[in-house]
Amino acid sequence: MTLERCPVCGGFLSSEAGTFEVTYEGKSFSFCSLDCMHIFQHFPQAYAEGQEPDLQAIEDLGLQD
Ligand SMILES: [Zn+2]
Repeated sequence: MTLERCPVCGGFLSSEAGTFEVTYEGKSFSFCSLDCMHIFQHFPQAYAEGQEPDLQAIEDLGLQD
């Protein structure tokens, strides 16, 4: 069994983590949390290309707790 990683924070996805899923350009991406899913939805192109958006841009979303 292969453990997938959350493309946003790099954390491993638990078996229950399948709830957070987004399909972008025909590929599905799974996330460890709702926050990570929201961040992806703001910058889908960066993650789809294996990059990370600007940290400041993420902070500007105000998702930190
Ligand atoms: Zn995550």
